[in-house]
Amino acid sequence: MLDVQKIRNDFPILTREVNGKPLVYFDNAATSQTPQVVIDAIVDYYSSYNANIHRGVHTLSQEATDAYEIARKKIQEHFGAKRAHEIILTSGTTHSINIIATGFTSLLSKGDEIIVSALEHHSNIVPWQMLCERTGAILKVIPMNEDGELVMHVYDQLLSNRTKLVFTNHISNALGTINPIEEIIEKAHRVGAAVLIDGAQACPHVKPDVEALDVDFYVASAHKLCGPTGVGMLYGKEDWLNKLPPYQGGGEMIEQVTFEKTTYAGLPHKFEAGTPNICGGIAFGVALDYMNSIGFDNIAAYENELLEYGTQKLLEIEGLKIYGTSKNKTSVISFNLDNIHPYDVGTIVDKLGIAVRTGHHCAQPIMDFYNIPGTVRASFSFYNTKEEIDALVEAVKKAKMMLS
Ligand code: PMP
Repeated sequence: MLDVQKIRNDFPILTREVNGKPLVYFDNAATSQTPQVVIDAIVDYYSSYNANIHRGVHTLSQEATDAYEIARKKIQEHFGAKRAHEIILTSGTTHSINIIATGFTSLLSKGDEIIVSALEHHSNIVPWQMLCERTGAILKVIPMNEDGELVMHVYDQLLSNRTKLVFTNHISNALGTINPIEEIIEKAHRVGAAVLIDGAQACPHVKPDVEALDVDFYVASAHKLCGPTGVGMLYGKEDWLNKLPPYQGGGEMIEQVTFEKTTYAGLPHKFEAGTPNICGGIAFGVALDYMNSIGFDNIAAYENELLEYGTQKLLEIEGLKIYGTSKNKTSVISFNLDNIHPYDVGTIVDKLGIAVRTGHHCAQPIMDFYNIPGTVRASFSFYNTKEEIDALVEAVKKAKMMLS
């Protein structure tokens, strides 16, 4: 059981007001809020040991390097990777996906096939389209159904010995659907294809185990799970990471540089050119500690309660339609009111202090499937309450009255 009031005290932002009303923050799927321990870690870094890492013999540099490498270890343990050097610190999910999509350029040929799902964020579509343009590979799509679930029998038909890569998200950001990634991975491996799972939206809700999943690549962003923006992770199986070329050239990623020839550093540095987001990496580790101290089972159970309550209360509003009705989903409610534009609903509920996301949520193909311009998305976190959901319901009713 969570002590939600106690947890709320960990988040200074939750005491502020917006437009004269207490803030209700329901845009957690876009970015989560930051607990004091993570803010303290950031302040502590810049106040006491700000220095560049991996290259200085002086004390500050060593302290910063140690803290950064401890964070990598925490990320490794959290995601269940066997080796710390299988964890690459990146600027976020988008960066992580681009490392792999670019790396596959030399491994694909014209006519090879790669498979994406219909439920993706643009960051798990566009880099692969660019890869297809470079290589002549063909992009195939696992379709979705009206409930916002993947149509898995079509996936079976798409797989063949031409399939080289499959990439889907673990959980959809626009609808909250939890995808059957175990089945996706297992079936892809049967035809010899590699799999990348975009865990950006899953990580705030579940603790993935990359070894048990036997996934080839798993990517996530710290800012979705109480960490800072501009930092994330890429897990890759050692063999794959050794096989792929570096993404960027620069300092830190080399073994030796001469004008005739440069040799690259080993893992993980080969993929970490330049000065990284040192403070962000350290704070990412602290955020994972914080989430684990609450416990992912507790988080999931409470968020499910919020999801059920919110779904039931919102559906009592006449003319409200929820998109993404799979039984297997996390605490995201995407909805529209009659023919009212989602932007108008979002603007009115903001006036009442409530932050929701409106628009296509960087998942335009999903909106096209439903033939809508976008949705209003309320996404709940473990620090939200049923009283806040009541405030949302009242605000949506008011919006409906004003806009109908
Ligand atoms: N994939 C999914 C499923 C997401 O929800 C997001 C963030 N909205 C991303 C990728 C991109 O993450 P970032 O912007 O942190 O790189």
